[in-house]
Amino acid sequence: MIEHVDIAIIGGGPVGASLALGLQGSGLSVAVLEAREKLEVADPRALALSQGCRLTLERLGAWEALAPDATAIETIHVSQRGGLGRAVLTREDAGVPALGYVAEYGALVAALAGRLLACDATVVTGARVTDVAATSAYAAVRYQRGGAEHLLTARMAVLSEGGRALPAHMRQDKDYGQSAVIATVSTQRPHGRRAYERFTAEGPIALLPLDAASLLHAPSPPAPPPPTGEGSYALVWTTPSAQVEERLALGDADFLAQLQVAFGDRQGRFTHAGPRAAFPLKLTLAAESKSPRIQRIGNAAHVLHPVAGQGFNLGVRDAWHLAQRILDTPRERLGEAAMSNAYAAERRFDVLGGSLMTDILVEAFSNDRPLLGHARGAALILLDLLPPLKTLFARKMMFGAQAW
Ligand SMILES: Cc1cc2nc3c(=O)[nH]c(=O)nc-3n(C[C@H](O)[C@H](O)[C@H](O)COP(=O)(O)OP(=O)(O)OC[C@H]3O[C@@H](n4cnc5c(N)ncnc54)[C@H](O)[C@@H]3O)c2cc1C
Repeated sequence: MIEHVDIAIIGGGPVGASLALGLQGSGLSVAVLEAREKLEVADPRALALSQGCRLTLERLGAWEALAPDATAIETIHVSQRGGLGRAVLTREDAGVPALGYVAEYGALVAALAGRLLACDATVVTGARVTDVAATSAYAAVRYQRGGAEHLLTARMAVLSEGGRALPAHMRQDKDYGQSAVIATVSTQRPHGRRAYERFTAEGPIALLPLDAASLLHAPSPPAPPPPTGEGSYALVWTTPSAQVEERLALGDADFLAQLQVAFGDRQGRFTHAGPRAAFPLKLTLAAESKSPRIQRIGNAAHVLHPVAGQGFNLGVRDAWHLAQRILDTPRERLGEAAMSNAYAAERRFDVLGGSLMTDILVEAFSNDRPLLGHARGAALILLDLLPPLKTLFARKMMFGAQAW
């Protein structure tokens, strides 16, 4: 068992794995502690990865393995149910080959894991971290593995465990009273690489295009590829928490009929629904760490509503920036306050900007107040009519709040 490293990464999910890959070849000793018995995981949620995220994954060496399982988004159609106004963003507006890519969480983790297991970091699976503390000289990480207790010390411990270990007094939570019901659905018309975001009084509905290739790689039970000529979509349907069980329990025909009413017929009829799952939705911001030897990144630092598909995109930017900060710091100064403060200052605007933007979208676009409906319609029309505004909006979605 390893006992001391330069950097201990707690959680080998997509953000923790990205940080470890960002440090490969640096000569630093890096350990990744992951609670699951293996890194790969069957998780049906589909993630919209921005163009900026793709570029980062390329630099980390993980994009090549993910590309066959990713579907490009070339157009995003934004509308509101029962109100005027809609906006269409295209890759041409943004001057990029694609606005983003859709990949299943399991495929993303598998692509990162393939690289991680081949790089110089030590990966310890089946290691559940139970406590992280710090002295002025090092961080101490306690974990359980194979029924035994272990202690690992590090110059810096980075929490990327998804926020599960965060006690209530160390975070600010806002419960939206909503859950995301997810499923793969088929539509009468092919997807044409077009994603939809439709705002309804219940909350937003997102449809993310999926190619047959990504469906073939989906974790079991895989959704059957749609009949020729039809389109496949990953559905993220925001549902008031009180109605989630009922919606999950609906028969396929009733589920599709309700979806048809909520979404409309832009894609023709909904013809098929795969297995469903639900994720509770909230906004969480972690309090700043008391010790510079303990950092939080990804969902361990911020959990966002998936309305704008920003969670992992923000998290991978955390991982990339922290890796650069670590690489620019002499080994003996890792975990000192100067380094920690510089990283926090560098990330503050992007994290707050992303959190605020998703929160405003959820609050302002998820209700049926008539005045707000008119304001939303006007905002969508304005966005659609003003190309520079569209380009700016698209760039912020792709590269973060700091992008201009
Ligand atoms: C329905 C839904 C749709 C979403 N859509 C999008 C989208 O379109 N675009 C986007 O960018 N984001 C999206 N997200 C957000 C995205 O899933 C998260 O931001 C991302 O998974 C965060 O990655 P992470 O590595 O920080 O945390 P996680 O993915 O939660 O990974 C944490 C890892 O830490 C491990 N772990 C946990 N506890 C311990 C412990 N005690 N010890 C050791 N290891 C531990 C876990 O096993 C896991 O491997 C969506 C989320 C949901 C719920």
